[in-house]
Amino acid sequence: MADFYTSEKIYGSQLENGNLMPIKKLTEQAFRPRTDNYKLQSEALQFWFKNSELMDDFLRKSKVEIQKFQLSKIKKLVDNAYTKVPFYREFYGAAGYEVGNISSFSDFEQLPIVNKVLLNSFDASGRVDDPAFLELANTSRTSGSSGKPFTVYSDNDDIILDHLQVLRFYNSCLKTPLQENDWLYMLHHSGLAFSSLHGKYRTFQLPDLLPHTPLGEHLLFLRPKLLITLPSYLPLILQHKVELKMSGVEAILTNSETSTQLERSYYSKALDLPIFDEYSSEEIGMIATQCAYGQYHVVEDGVYLEIVDADEHGFGTVVCTDLNNEFMPLIRFDHGDIARKTANHKRCECGSVCTSLDEVNGRRDDAFRTREQRLVPSASILAAVDDILVTPADKALATFRLIQKGPETIELLTHYVNAPYKAMAELLQQLKERLSSLFGYPIILLHREVDVLPEHKSYKRKSLVREWGAN
Ligand SMILES: [Zn+2]
Repeated sequence: MADFYTSEKIYGSQLENGNLMPIKKLTEQAFRPRTDNYKLQSEALQFWFKNSELMDDFLRKSKVEIQKFQLSKIKKLVDNAYTKVPFYREFYGAAGYEVGNISSFSDFEQLPIVNKVLLNSFDASGRVDDPAFLELANTSRTSGSSGKPFTVYSDNDDIILDHLQVLRFYNSCLKTPLQENDWLYMLHHSGLAFSSLHGKYRTFQLPDLLPHTPLGEHLLFLRPKLLITLPSYLPLILQHKVELKMSGVEAILTNSETSTQLERSYYSKALDLPIFDEYSSEEIGMIATQCAYGQYHVVEDGVYLEIVDADEHGFGTVVCTDLNNEFMPLIRFDHGDIARKTANHKRCECGSVCTSLDEVNGRRDDAFRTREQRLVPSASILAAVDDILVTPADKALATFRLIQKGPETIELLTHYVNAPYKAMAELLQQLKERLSSLFGYPIILLHREVDVLPEHKSYKRKSLVREWGAN
């Protein structure tokens, strides 16, 4: 591993382990993406020098200016896809599309929605605008909990832009923007596209956190500005609270897994640091980021986001168009998440006029369904758990998972570190009543206390798992 990092001229961020053996050992599991090379770091750095102010300005544009920008991107993207990408040629052709047909968002929203299964019906060369470039393209592969693996190809420009939008988000979480010699600390199974930009904006990636990992000591050694992590690690991070504060970390950023606002607020208070959540997907990249006022603002120079088939509560399917991946276009792409737009949103207190989400519910295959196949919003189920089992007064519940076993049957797995704040039978009865009212008919609630939750292959934690019914 050391050779791998020193054989090239790039800065060896991962070597900065402070001579802490457990840290060194863990970093050996970190996977270095092939984008993390000298040439691309150069290009990213130049782009950042040239455009970081313009990228910041975008966030202060008016709604009209943002829409104008997005519509012109969309027109170009769709025409390019229809002209050069066999999948879209056939799919849009069958829907009667012709070049130049889009002159408004409502024209665009007439186009059929695509998903992994449809895209997978074409091989890779049928999904890109230049098959000759396929071997050189960057790939990101997603397993998905039910379907076939799906590979997204992108060119270097897309990778660079995504990375710089991430840096811009990091800046927005800090009191003063990142300085070139600042460290970022990534406590996450997957790292950023670049470990640094020629030694500037360095990231240390720790791919896992174990109960005895000397995280506090390492934070004191590196003194990073931000800690980026999975929400599952927050309870362990809490054990390093003192060092975390002393090291000068200004904020914690969470992503990849569903966590509730209540949960994040609890840890934010306990750690005395703000926590900002990020909503992203493997396929699209960063979709929306939380501001200091709790709103998820869509990254509108990267994504055009629609909520379709919203129910009476405003929850609907997230359909995303990646505005920057021209190579393998993802246009009106449904990757199975459910979210709700902020009602009557004009300008957020943070100053953003971007489209805002007030709730993101994670993967649809994690959402429960009634026997009539109606979706029960994950946020409502998680709120029930929050209210009944995870009340702020009760710190005894270390972790939980709800599994829908059948149309009427839900199993609750819990791991308690202390006795619950009231009799378990009473808690279960309350939860059963709440679930029954969400489903609209009586639910059978099973309960099992476990030492550890069974591992799930895609993420370390899934709070809601559905083992019954179609996707
Ligand atoms: Zn805001």
